[in-house]
Amino acid sequence: MEIRIEISDKRGNPTERETVLHGAGQEAPVCGAECAAEREIRARDREALYAACRRASRARAGSWRIFLDAAAECGQCAHGPEAGTSPEAAPLQEAGTSRTAALLQEAVRCLYDGAYRFRKDCLKELVGRPVFANRDALADYGTGIYTFVLSGLSEENAFAAAERGKLLGTCKGYARSLGNLPNNYLHAQQMTDYAADLAKMLGEGVSCRVLDHEAMERMGCGALLAVNRGRKEEAFLITLEYAGGEKTDRKLALVGKGLLFDSGGYHLKSISGMNGMKYDMCGAAGVLEAFEFLVRSRTPVNLMAVLALGENLIGPEAVKMGDVITTLSGKTVEVYNTDAEGRLALCDALTWAQRCGAAQIVDLATLTYSAQAALGDETGALFGNRDELCRDMQKAAETADEAVWRLPTGERYHRLLEWSICADFANYAPDKGAGASVAACFLENFIEPGTGWLHLDIVGPSVIRSATEEMSEGASGFGVASVAAYVQAWARSKGIV
Ligand SMILES: [Zn+2]
Repeated sequence: MEIRIEISDKRGNPTERETVLHGAGQEAPVCGAECAAEREIRARDREALYAACRRASRARAGSWRIFLDAAAECGQCAHGPEAGTSPEAAPLQEAGTSRTAALLQEAVRCLYDGAYRFRKDCLKELVGRPVFANRDALADYGTGIYTFVLSGLSEENAFAAAERGKLLGTCKGYARSLGNLPNNYLHAQQMTDYAADLAKMLGEGVSCRVLDHEAMERMGCGALLAVNRGRKEEAFLITLEYAGGEKTDRKLALVGKGLLFDSGGYHLKSISGMNGMKYDMCGAAGVLEAFEFLVRSRTPVNLMAVLALGENLIGPEAVKMGDVITTLSGKTVEVYNTDAEGRLALCDALTWAQRCGAAQIVDLATLTYSAQAALGDETGALFGNRDELCRDMQKAAETADEAVWRLPTGERYHRLLEWSICADFANYAPDKGAGASVAACFLENFIEPGTGWLHLDIVGPSVIRSATEEMSEGASGFGVASVAAYVQAWARSKGIV
């Protein structure tokens, strides 16, 4: 893939022409009849622009001219004149850049979204080799050439915006490749190695702490360990930390569900239910790659990424229905449904994040089919314990062109978990419905007073189940861009919520 910028004056006459980016396309573009004529994109608004970019790059070849000005001037979207240029209206905008820069960044990212394809040839060479060192080979972005035509931006600002878009696009691609890797190529150990290698690559200011089975047993992470009992010794709680803000700034933690495979446990899934369960780690992959983007774009924030990694399998020691487990928080849980394991893995990670000093948490998890049943395959379910945080996340998602919809929590759902005669509460509300809200309330039980909390349940949009004209089949990377936009806006507000 190759991305160029052409800056024109208002009448459309080119004033500067510069090639800014050579993306991840492997071969030089082949120019034949296919790309003899450049095709044009003139979208009337932001949404249409993003969709057109994804459709164009989906072909992965040929050359395109993409005109930004009409979309930039549109009054119908968050980047339009109506909404002004306040940080609230356009969280991805940084001080001193225009809405055109924000639009350019996201349009470039959308080109990466459309062009991404998992390279199955490279899987053959991956056996026994580290995923991180080979991650660029796992994604192919084709040979298309995309020229953005725009006005009103300096060359320097246009270049910077396109670079940010490229970084976000490739980070999202890494998250998709992690999701697409088969379970036997990516167990919790390999994912842990990936996170440690990433921290090393990010370098100064970034630390990585790995808690293994033994360390978690000492600490009392009874919930995550219970989930993983069918694959003993291979659960990990990973904490990446980035000191990008002032020492006194409050910390924000991204927490990801990383079930490298979910068989359902003794409540074993059916063959169709178990199909795609390698994707049950997309929350953790998304969190990790949002973290990478935020660190590499030097976002001034004190940030953590906490990953709860394990596998939900059966075996002589696997957790059973009716078992009562003691979580890291000290609260006890009766296991009703062994397939409601994501919340168990996450609850210890939430407690851990707060012990590490998180004042606010955003968790990303492929948690419930109920969320998918309610909202479909393209919309994530959003939950939170403060209205203003939910509003900020909705704005961030809109900027990132991802759909989220808020669903309720509250006493009436909390009550449904409080039926156990042996434990503080159960992990499931049998036959009561509202499964996504009940799961969110389960997690909320582990949020301490004063901690801000957002939860994205992304079973539906985390995977593209059959290819569309905008994206190829497989992991979608959903959530990476929204979470990144949210944290950037949070950083700008310096954590004052
Ligand atoms: Zn499950």
